Amino acid sequence: MSEEQVQSMTDGMHIIVDALKKNDIDTIYGLVGIPVTDLARHAQAQGIRFIGFRHEQSAGNAAAISGYLTQKPGICLTVSAPGFLNGLVALANATTNGFPMIQISGSSDRAIIDLQQGDYEELDQMNAAKPFVKAAYRVNKPEDIGIALARAIRAAVSGRPGGVYLDLTTEVLGAAMDKEAAAQSTFRIEDPAPRQIPSEESVRKALKLLSEAQKPLVILGKGAAYAQADSAIRAFIEKTGIPFLPMSMAKGLLPDDHPQSAAAARSFVLANADVVMLLGARLNWLLAHGKGKNWSPQTRFIQLDIEPEEIDSNRPISAPVVGDIVSSMDALLKQLPTQPITPQKQWIADVASKKAVNVAKMTAKLNGDPSPMGYFSALRTIRDVLAQYKDVYLVNEGANTLDNARNIIDMYEPRKRLDTGTWGVMGIGMGYAIGAAISSGKPVVAIEGDSAFGFSGMELETICRFNLPITILVFNNGGVYRGDDVNRHGDHDPAPTSLLQSARYDRLIEAFGGVGYHATTTAEVKNALLAGLTSQKPTLINCVINPAIGTESGHLTNLNPKSAAK
Ligand code: ADP
Ligand code: MG
Repeated sequence: MSEEQVQSMTDGMHIIVDALKKNDIDTIYGLVGIPVTDLARHAQAQGIRFIGFRHEQSAGNAAAISGYLTQKPGICLTVSAPGFLNGLVALANATTNGFPMIQISGSSDRAIIDLQQGDYEELDQMNAAKPFVKAAYRVNKPEDIGIALARAIRAAVSGRPGGVYLDLTTEVLGAAMDKEAAAQSTFRIEDPAPRQIPSEESVRKALKLLSEAQKPLVILGKGAAYAQADSAIRAFIEKTGIPFLPMSMAKGLLPDDHPQSAAAARSFVLANADVVMLLGARLNWLLAHGKGKNWSPQTRFIQLDIEPEEIDSNRPISAPVVGDIVSSMDALLKQLPTQPITPQKQWIADVASKKAVNVAKMTAKLNGDPSPMGYFSALRTIRDVLAQYKDVYLVNEGANTLDNARNIIDMYEPRKRLDTGTWGVMGIGMGYAIGAAISSGKPVVAIEGDSAFGFSGMELETICRFNLPITILVFNNGGVYRGDDVNRHGDHDPAPTSLLQSARYDRLIEAFGGVGYHATTTAEVKNALLAGLTSQKPTLINCVINPAIGTESGHLTNLNPKSAAK
């Protein structure tokens, strides 16, 4: 080729970067290596931020949570086979939670893979991904990259959002193509998540059922938080006067101290409501499938969801409203004046008195200050500090650390609580914290069990390298669930649940130039947290918690089979 011909050519790596740019993708989370290192360099040269991680799972978790927060697909870039598989855990988790994310992985030589002749990092990645994702595509020609990305973005953000896998072969990444033809092959896609308007009839039915209800309840889920219909949802709840219950990541959609919040009377409202309106929440295990001792068999349901197949998944739904929540809330608010909704006064009073009783019980528990610290005293201290920092993102994982923090720490703004979600998965901590800090530019506090923190702890280096305003509190009770179990065999190996309680997690962050604190009292926790929040420097607080107080499996003891043989 002449010099002129070379000048007029581009390649697959440049084309994918152009296509991403045309669709306003401004950040890639990933980990480089063969064959995607140059792709990351090109992206950075074009002004796309590249956030390099220490493990693909955390990169994927960061991408997923940025998708949840921004409604744009979070992009995760990985190498082939093992890097791809590491990222796949996060991609599957994104799909399960309904977060829009695209994992782009380089893959080895297709012809060698298909004949299983043993290539470097050989794996049929597209087919391996399929059971775990909403959609999977492989690009075999550089001229198809623009269309492939359009399909990936649409699949990720339209309908119920989810994870999408995009396979770019080594051959396509390096394939040359005429620059002009390439520029025409990429494009900005129109209306990637089209509105889905519910039928008027379904909206009328839902309102009619609510108007007949004596003891109505609204359950807010993270689908409602994702939809960003915040003011319409608040208006609907306040106009109707219906008590609401937020699912974990929907906390803050209306502030937790809102008078209509029934969170402190959760069991009571679930068992006694006659009509429950599910707003972007699935009737899955987190709601006991709508069955059992927590629920009344007489309860009738309204469900607002974008996914028609979700309806009737666990119990018959009397009034399905299938549409996107922005459109559905608009329609409900518009028709609301035609159907007076008046929850029974006794119901409102009963919810309020149940709340008062439970709040008083909780306050008594929270007021102690034992030594060593317990979950309650440490979390009360954190709660009181965070009440002054309402716009901080809160990442939370662990077993007891998760269950207690969810109940104790109030949220005041939508989409600020990021946690283990639909799977109850451990390992999202540092990935979510980094994704939230990068995509929002706001400070993040992560409350982590010591076991949960271990899954992504090496990302402290990433946090320090990018100098992110993240403060991590490690609840160090020296174990999974608790730290005082013993080996039943009596030999010297530690018990399966045990971790080092002497571990100084604070020194890990110091190794990377961050600030570490070792806290054994609530006063030390308070001062260290305030210091982290005001300095906005990468900070880790090793909170020493009594090893003898955790419960096995946290609040999920019912899901934990106990061995019959002793
Ligand atoms: P939670 O765990 O908080 O109860 P889930 O993840 O179980 O929430 O449920 C969220 C539901 O919201 C899913 O069924 C999903 O289809 C739905 N959803 C997601 N985005 C939208 C949207 N924009 N409009 C309507 N429903 C949505
Ligand atoms: Mg622990």
